[in-house]
Amino acid sequence: MAHHQIVIVGGGTAGITVAARLRNAAPSLDVAIIEPSEKHYYQPLWTLVGGGLFKPEESGRDEADVVPYGVKWLKDRVETFDPNSNTVTTASGEKVTYDYLIVAPGIQINWDKVKGLKESVGKEGVCSNYSINTVASTWEFIRNLKEGVALFTQPAGAVKCGGAPQKICYLAEDHFRRSGVRDKIEVIFTLAGPRLFAVDKYREVLEKVAQRKGVEPRFRHNLVEIRSASKEAIYRHMDTDEEIVIKYDMIHVTPPMGAPDFVSSSELAGEGGWVDVDKHTLQHTRFANVYALGDASSLPTSKTGAAIRKQAPVLVSNLLSNMNQEPQVASYDGYTSCPVVTGYDSLVLAEFDYSGQPAETFPFDQAKERFSMFLLKKFGLPAMYWHGMLHGRV
Ligand code: FAD
Repeated sequence: MAHHQIVIVGGGTAGITVAARLRNAAPSLDVAIIEPSEKHYYQPLWTLVGGGLFKPEESGRDEADVVPYGVKWLKDRVETFDPNSNTVTTASGEKVTYDYLIVAPGIQINWDKVKGLKESVGKEGVCSNYSINTVASTWEFIRNLKEGVALFTQPAGAVKCGGAPQKICYLAEDHFRRSGVRDKIEVIFTLAGPRLFAVDKYREVLEKVAQRKGVEPRFRHNLVEIRSASKEAIYRHMDTDEEIVIKYDMIHVTPPMGAPDFVSSSELAGEGGWVDVDKHTLQHTRFANVYALGDASSLPTSKTGAAIRKQAPVLVSNLLSNMNQEPQVASYDGYTSCPVVTGYDSLVLAEFDYSGQPAETFPFDQAKERFSMFLLKKFGLPAMYWHGMLHGRV
């Protein structure tokens, strides 16, 4: 049985960022990360991979290269939590005990919640930016479509980066226009929700973007089945339960997502199966030595890497205070950000907090589409991620 002072479950965006910050703050800490994957991905790039601007492999690095110096990497998968005995059990059967636990295994993609999706994704016009294994198919099908119906979906419930389903739709539309086939393609964006974006300031702009591009949003449409043989997408209307069938020539699916099963079935779970933490301190509501951040946490904000950038310093400050038996005074305000790509040279940089109020970084109106913000997304943010955030510097 291994023991570490601090055990982090998940070496994705949240796990690595928080590990780096812990080591920077107190190099003598004994920190271990349990993470099964050999590769670490900067997933926000997948929008641009789907849009043909990067190759899939440009979004990844070896996990071994991002685990901070001095942090132990246990290449394994956690299967169960026993917070009453400060123990996690891994797939290989090992029990790892801890003084403090940080839970950051991300969100689970539930491909099988749409009938026929698992079998068809990546083939015959069905694509998705939500996996490294299928993201290349998005660009393949966008590039090869010369006429017909291009369909884009957004499911009910939480997804990572709520604006991402729209981004790929706008990129595709821009590509069709630039390559001279736009008038032969109908672009449809279907979503289970009732509006394009949660925050009014950005929603109003995005409604105009969709209108200008001739992209017709169909609200309250929840994708339930893909019939790939007949190229039909089957929806249930969220209010009337009516079945709606739309024929497609290509379809980009944003799959349903949810709390990871091993979290939702554990004692750490709260409502919806997420790790139940205080929305300001990030400390677990029942187990004082447990914290969570990122997509698997119950934090009621839009699930993004940008949010994690602001959550990580709060978590580290409070955890160190807890270890020193001092009051936990750091507070997370729900900050999150969604760079909504609206074309190959334009972007709306949405930033807001728990109150739904814009919390913008730049001294100009970020609801306006800008080329400079597109360049930030394409070049600035990836550099900031790999060289700053994962080192606990920004
Ligand atoms: P992840 O980064 O997903 O990491 C979770 C880690 O936990 C993984 O490495 C996984 O292998 C590991 N894990 C899973 N199960 C276990 C287990 N049982 N035991 C141990 N480890 C486990 N965010 C933005 O800020 N801006 C954007 O523009 C943006 N665009 C996006 C576009 C797309 C297409 C996608 C897919 C995401 C986008 N995001 C964006 C969201 C962002 O990538 C996520 O919010 C962020 O990666 C979440 O970090 P995380 O650490 O919680 O989860």
